[in-house]
Amino acid sequence: MLRPARLSLALVAVLFSAACTLAPLPPIPAPGTQQQQTQGAASTRADFNAVVARMQPVATQICRERSPQLNCVFTVVLDDRPNLPPNAFHTRDEQGRPIIAFTETLIRELRSRDEIALIFGHEAAHHIADHIPRIQREARTGALLGGLAAALVGADPGTTRQIMSATATVGARRYSKPFELEADRIGALIAERGGFDALRGAQIFRRIPDPGNQFLGTHPPNAERLREVERAVARIRAGEPV
Ligand SMILES: [Zn+2]
Repeated sequence: MLRPARLSLALVAVLFSAACTLAPLPPIPAPGTQQQQTQGAASTRADFNAVVARMQPVATQICRERSPQLNCVFTVVLDDRPNLPPNAFHTRDEQGRPIIAFTETLIRELRSRDEIALIFGHEAAHHIADHIPRIQREARTGALLGGLAAALVGADPGTTRQIMSATATVGARRYSKPFELEADRIGALIAERGGFDALRGAQIFRRIPDPGNQFLGTHPPNAERLREVERAVARIRAGEPV
């Protein structure tokens, strides 16, 4: 089910650390060039709709298997504002209902339905693995420890607040890389069970700019994500759990 793009404006406000922003990709070659023919065409809204129609029920099924305590009925939003960066994210509304949002600028950067399916699976996996409350807990723990450290060194209340806020951010980000890799593994499972090829989908990691392995970076390096998907797919195709 696709909802109007306007909905996502409100959603961005409640989003907490589950955004999977992709850095800008290299420009899409003009239609008819040699490069376009060999690299595959940009995905369309029709491709997105076809992937969602297949992936949505599979995501619900895997959600109910792994996290029966959660609301597993996904709402999917396509934001077609042309000035938005390529992006996909997961969030929840106040009732805990999961929402997956894509920008149309991201759809146009993707080169196969398998890539759309892997990203869809990744966002659904953030919900299934309950990442938003887990990240919020890590942030609170980070803030408490930071506040304790500040009190021990005799910082004044203003400085203590600043330290708590900074360490909350560190706490949230420190745990976001393992969460991203977990979302890649479960996302690969959802894509494969939906009949897509997660290995082909993971080719996206060969094209997007590498975030590197910075201490405060929220995303793992692309090579690590590609390896994670490859390992997960090997297990899935051998009938082993991921
Ligand atoms: Zn993510």
